Amino acid sequence: MGKASRDKRDIYYRKAKEEGWRARSAFKLLQIDEEFNIFQGVKRVVDLCAAPGSWSQVLSRKLYLPIKCSPDSRDGSLPLIVAIDLQPMAPIDGVIQVQGDITNARTAEVVIKHFDGCKADLVVCDGAPDVTGLHDMDEFVQSQLILAALTIVTHVLRVGGKFIAKIFRGKDTSLLYCQVRYLRCLIKSLKLFFPVVTFAKPKSSRNSSIEAFAVCENYSPPEGFNEQDLHRLLEKVGSPSGEGDLDCSSGWLEGPNKVYIPFVACGDLSGYDSDRSYPLPATAEGTSYQSLDPVQPPIAPPYKTALELKKASSHGIKDLEKLSLDS
Ligand code: SAM
Repeated sequence: MGKASRDKRDIYYRKAKEEGWRARSAFKLLQIDEEFNIFQGVKRVVDLCAAPGSWSQVLSRKLYLPIKCSPDSRDGSLPLIVAIDLQPMAPIDGVIQVQGDITNARTAEVVIKHFDGCKADLVVCDGAPDVTGLHDMDEFVQSQLILAALTIVTHVLRVGGKFIAKIFRGKDTSLLYCQVRYLRCLIKSLKLFFPVVTFAKPKSSRNSSIEAFAVCENYSPPEGFNEQDLHRLLEKVGSPSGEGDLDCSSGWLEGPNKVYIPFVACGDLSGYDSDRSYPLPATAEGTSYQSLDPVQPPIAPPYKTALELKKASSHGIKDLEKLSLDS
């Protein structure tokens, strides 16, 4: 699909370029904020799986730049924004970047160190593995990311703080959620730490996409909870990773104990529909619309390595091995 054609078919892709966002995902976080006011009072935040960085840009524009540009910035109270991803990303004002795998304990330690004993008010995670199209497999790998994110949450989030995480819905939607075992376990795990959990579908997220966002409010770990015990605790309820005691089919999500997680659409519902095509606007001079380049292409996308590997394979297996070791 050419740029102009995508501009027509994907209004949020076009708007992202016009407004200087690195990815259309920026609108998802903005629309979640419209509904849940997630930035209120936030001074410290962690952005997990952040590249290419449109959520970090939102955090920078909403939290960092307004203070940086005001006289208050002199009292040293600038917000702390820490962003992590496997991929490197181009710098963003006020955002500390950590390159690493969030499922690796060492990465979590680096993040925690940045907080220097202080706690975060908000943790967001838009993590997604490379989607294979095999829904069960995609849900499983996604759940590993959520579990890693939850581990970091238990170390850095302050009591009362918020956690926003991308989830995959599987094929069944809304009230059928509880039919899906992975989601059952996920709900149990999230409800263990957050009394208020809502699933949100921003207007900018296509209906055809299985993604939604868990908006978890008022972090309240169980009494006496020790972060080191997280995995043991999750094993008891059946962790979202599918490990351990997986008896998610019974218990407090059944019968009179059934828990319904509210599901809300968010963003201006009379606004742009991500599943519709919109004609390109004419310019003031009456000339045709000039498609813009992406704001910041990824600096080391995985497909580049794949192309290099493909090229190397035609030059012999030795080069291939060397490249895969280097990457
Ligand atoms: N929120 C980002 C934005 O607004 O630009 C988009 C995030 S993109 C949908 C998903 C990201 O998850 C990718 O950049 C990918 O590298 C990252 N990711 C996937 N698995 C990861 C892992 N184990 N650790 C860190 N990042 C991971």
